[in-house]
Amino acid sequence: MYFIVELNFRSNKSYLYALIKALIDASDIDLEIGFEKEKIVLISQKDEPKLESFLKQVEETLPASIYLKGSRHFVSEEKPQIKAIAIDDLPLDLSLCPSCQKEMFDVSSRRYYYPFTSCNACGAHHAFLTQHPLSRANSVMKFLVPCEACKKEMQMNPLRKSYPLISCIDCGVALRMVDKKSERYANDKGTYRQLFEVSARAIAKGKSVVMKTLHGYRKFYKPEGKVNPKAILFIADVNALNRHLMLVVQEFNALLSIERPLLRIATKSDEAKSHFGSSVWTKYPDEGMSMLLARELINAGLEYIVYEACEEGEEGDFLVDFDLPITPQKDFRLFINQDTFLLIDGERTIFPKAVQGGKRDRVSIASGLVCADTDMGKIIDRAELFAQIPAKEVYVAQGERSRVKDAVSFSVAEASMLSVLAEHEKLGEGAIGVHFDDRLHFLYYNKKSVIDVVPPRAFEADNLFAHIRELREGSDRLVENFRAKFPDLYARIDHLSGEVDLFRVTAILLELEDESFEGISESALSFLGKGGMQIDTKVTDNRFNDYAFLASLMSYKLSGAQQPILCYSIFESFGDYIADIATQLLGKTKTQTLTLSGRAFANQSLWGRIQRNLALQKPILNKNYPIGRESSVYGAQFL
Ligand SMILES: [Zn+2]
Ligand SMILES: [Zn+2]
Repeated sequence: MYFIVELNFRSNKSYLYALIKALIDASDIDLEIGFEKEKIVLISQKDEPKLESFLKQVEETLPASIYLKGSRHFVSEEKPQIKAIAIDDLPLDLSLCPSCQKEMFDVSSRRYYYPFTSCNACGAHHAFLTQHPLSRANSVMKFLVPCEACKKEMQMNPLRKSYPLISCIDCGVALRMVDKKSERYANDKGTYRQLFEVSARAIAKGKSVVMKTLHGYRKFYKPEGKVNPKAILFIADVNALNRHLMLVVQEFNALLSIERPLLRIATKSDEAKSHFGSSVWTKYPDEGMSMLLARELINAGLEYIVYEACEEGEEGDFLVDFDLPITPQKDFRLFINQDTFLLIDGERTIFPKAVQGGKRDRVSIASGLVCADTDMGKIIDRAELFAQIPAKEVYVAQGERSRVKDAVSFSVAEASMLSVLAEHEKLGEGAIGVHFDDRLHFLYYNKKSVIDVVPPRAFEADNLFAHIRELREGSDRLVENFRAKFPDLYARIDHLSGEVDLFRVTAILLELEDESFEGISESALSFLGKGGMQIDTKVTDNRFNDYAFLASLMSYKLSGAQQPILCYSIFESFGDYIADIATQLLGKTKTQTLTLSGRAFANQSLWGRIQRNLALQKPILNKNYPIGRESSVYGAQFL
């Protein structure tokens, strides 16, 4: 009889698998492990005596993950066959696993308050990488020699077996703290801890601390009054989450997962509302520097603060940094609506990525990422991390510059649709796609190539009111009434010119503080009513008409409608329009598959409407790629 445990893991990244495998290798248990599609499988004899204690050890050592969706176990007469998949074990950029965290706060360890604590299964490996494949020599740690204790650990500690980036306080990286008067260094247990203590106390006193972290420079400070919309809520004390935010269990678990995403969460306490409004991008401490600071913030009596992602050289009362030229990745944002999890955009934890399929010797480029052939197969990562990039043909996303002379320019909308089809193994079947980023595209995939069947109309912010006047009878009067009632706003919009997208114009028209798509999303979230108002999206043909849309908003504004209901109605109307056109196209082309792509879908109001209107059509989206622009670098492999 066999005892089988299946962990439902919806990614082919190796970190959980590798961690369990290391534990198996270090114990003398007779247990087989396999990695199948969306599953990590453990198989042992039912009467294996060490099984119970081993599974307990796994439970204590395994971090939570956004890809881990429960587990099941069962007994079987027959030994199941493992259908192994190709595992992606490219360098990670994660938070810390439970063992490494414990070590960092254990005063007897060699890594007490050492922010670069990490192991084979956790930490920001990618930040240290100078070139693929990852090794000590291919990292910025190449000039640091591991001490005897670390060398021994590389043989003895199953989690750090041959770990290329091993270091500890004795052989690792010193920290430096500078203000206008003094400079201090941290290079032993006492001073590392002191440095974070001093930083936290300074923040408690209202000072700002600019810190170099493994996820980039961050300016930390205590919020006072309404904070900059760019500021991210940084939770030091886990209890603050439920006290100040209104979050569901999926959001709570995701925030604390080893991937540590950025999540937009609704505020609950009056205090949080006064700083952030109705919702705020939130982060639970995600790498060594931030985790140590968080611990000392709690000691200084702060349960949360904020930070802004910034560049080297940012002004602050204090600077904390270290002498290692790391390359942080762009952080990633996650969207959660009940059981829907969408990676919105960003690099960290998603890239580098091993790619299956694609065209040999085709290089594709988008959002600063390159998909190219290497000795390890096709990989997506930043160009500078490849030793060389062999290419017969180069595809570059529209709107991005490339130094390659004969580069083919590709449409992000079309490539994004292909990336969804490729992820769902539906290339070669017909499909309709909706791509919604700054603009809205309706696409048809005829089993060979993608056609933009309803491309967006040209939109120009110049002469906006002239376009609106021409819409239909009475539009003239609408513009005049608007000018009379909102003369300053009229003048501001009338002076817009150049590359201003529809959402920015909309945000300006609605007088939102954050003049962007984000600002409209945030305001829509604060709408507590049931239904919105119908906003005009088209005039004559089926195509979305930006000017009709703006005219409709102008007339609602004239009649005194408030920001939240207008913003909510915008997404509701988009949801209705998208569902309407997509359903028509599916019918006309007799296709079954509907893909959605583009980061505009990461919006609670729009997603709610799409789910309601397109429940039968069961649209598919990217799973392990962002729904944003980054996925087009993958999709362009199939153009
Ligand atoms: Zn670890
Ligand atoms: Zn060491």
